[in-house]
Amino acid sequence: MPDVVFSFDNTYARDLEGFYARSNAERVPAPKLIKLNQALAKELGLDTLNSQSAADIFSGNEAPQGAEVLAQAYAGHQFGNFVPQLGDGRALLLGELIDTSGNRRDIQLKGSGRTPFSRGGDGKAAIGPVLREYLMGEAMHALGIPTTRALAAVSTGQPVFRERPLPGAVLTRVAASHIRVGTFQFFASRGDYSKVKQLADYTIARHDPALATTPNPYLAFLNAVCDRQAALIASWMHVGFIHGVMNTDNMAISGETIDYGPCAFMDRYSPRTVFSSIDHQGRYAYGNQPIIARWNLARLAETLLPLISTDESTAVAEATAAVNSFTDRYDEYWLQGMRTKLGLADPPHPEDLNLANGFLSAMDSQSVDYTLAFRALAQAALGDDGKIRILFEDPAPYDVWAEQWRNRKPDATTILKSNPLYVPRNHMVEAALTAATEQNDLAPFETLLEVLSLPFTERPGFDAYTKPAALDAEPYRTFCGT
Ligand code: AMP
Ligand code: MG
Repeated sequence: MPDVVFSFDNTYARDLEGFYARSNAERVPAPKLIKLNQALAKELGLDTLNSQSAADIFSGNEAPQGAEVLAQAYAGHQFGNFVPQLGDGRALLLGELIDTSGNRRDIQLKGSGRTPFSRGGDGKAAIGPVLREYLMGEAMHALGIPTTRALAAVSTGQPVFRERPLPGAVLTRVAASHIRVGTFQFFASRGDYSKVKQLADYTIARHDPALATTPNPYLAFLNAVCDRQAALIASWMHVGFIHGVMNTDNMAISGETIDYGPCAFMDRYSPRTVFSSIDHQGRYAYGNQPIIARWNLARLAETLLPLISTDESTAVAEATAAVNSFTDRYDEYWLQGMRTKLGLADPPHPEDLNLANGFLSAMDSQSVDYTLAFRALAQAALGDDGKIRILFEDPAPYDVWAEQWRNRKPDATTILKSNPLYVPRNHMVEAALTAATEQNDLAPFETLLEVLSLPFTERPGFDAYTKPAALDAEPYRTFCGT
């Protein structure tokens, strides 16, 4: 038996009765550890877990001592339509650990079988989507973007049935918490405001303890969530990340990126880029993400109105101002990040915004690779435009822009530090998942994970990972079917 102790302290189970359903993982026949995230395991004090115990625990076959296994309740707007009951249909919270830095982290299994919230689903996950979430989360983490992370991936030895049988797997996910906008909506939509208050008090104590003693903690909390989301979405935009399914149940109150489903990194720059096969209207297109985030925050604000003020018009006015503040906050985070991406020195200049937008406009409709273009600015800053000009079908708009940009004496080192060379390129992710699914070959996954662990540092042997897919490749599509 494992001598590793999970020192759980399960506040969600203890303090929020009625916000979840107790449940247990379904037994799987042959759990096998695919991958343990050693660095993260160390942060959690779990680094001495041997692979057999890790496989048993992270498949759900064995609950570690002190776990209080539960499925969380939540609701959510999916593509704009309200669904009063979603909840963890294929996930189970094992409990909370305090990491070596003193932070509370949820440990959750994803794909561990049916729960009381499964509706028609099987509660299972296939290996492809599990490894996809693993890769994307670790890539985001290495890019310095707040995110849930993968602690382990375990294969179950059991097929899951999608359009065809696929190897089954379970992901272990670590999050600051799994409280979502949809968690608030679950109780607000039932008119149970004592539960909304209980949840808000719990969440403030967990994520924003300093706000508890301010004059209006709930309004301050709403502002804090708006601020975290503004920073988060700006950082997605900076790296070209498209979440793909920004439903309110997929927006975490903590400000971490959560629920990697049909997400992908943009290759050719266009604000209209959509990869998700189910997003027919482009609701969650790259360029729409800030607008959608604000829309989701308005849904959160609605749930908090009776807590913000007993006077309805005051509550509405204050909540609206908080939600509206998202735009200014976002613009500021976005511009600050763009300034470093363009290598612009402090102090900020009134022309910076035009310069940032000007570069994007020059790229639009030109099939320019977003990641390579920003990276190539480093050479351009040193006077060599060769690498960047060939990325454009017609470099003339770039040339006009670059003249103004060079007047600001951009700094190449800043550019290299703030623009990744390696991102999870769609064709590389797909190749890694296909090898794992079809040939049980994990080598491409391992290599890609290694490449993505140091996204800003050019390393020999990884040149292929910097290249876009062939221009004549099939348009990329992502699917939700985890
Ligand atoms: P998501 O698309 O990950 O945001 O999930 C939306 C909702 O569908 C959540 O309530 C999930 O728990 C549920 N769900 C997704 N896939 C499954 C599945 N295979 N079995 C049961 N529930 C699922
Ligand atoms: Mg979800």
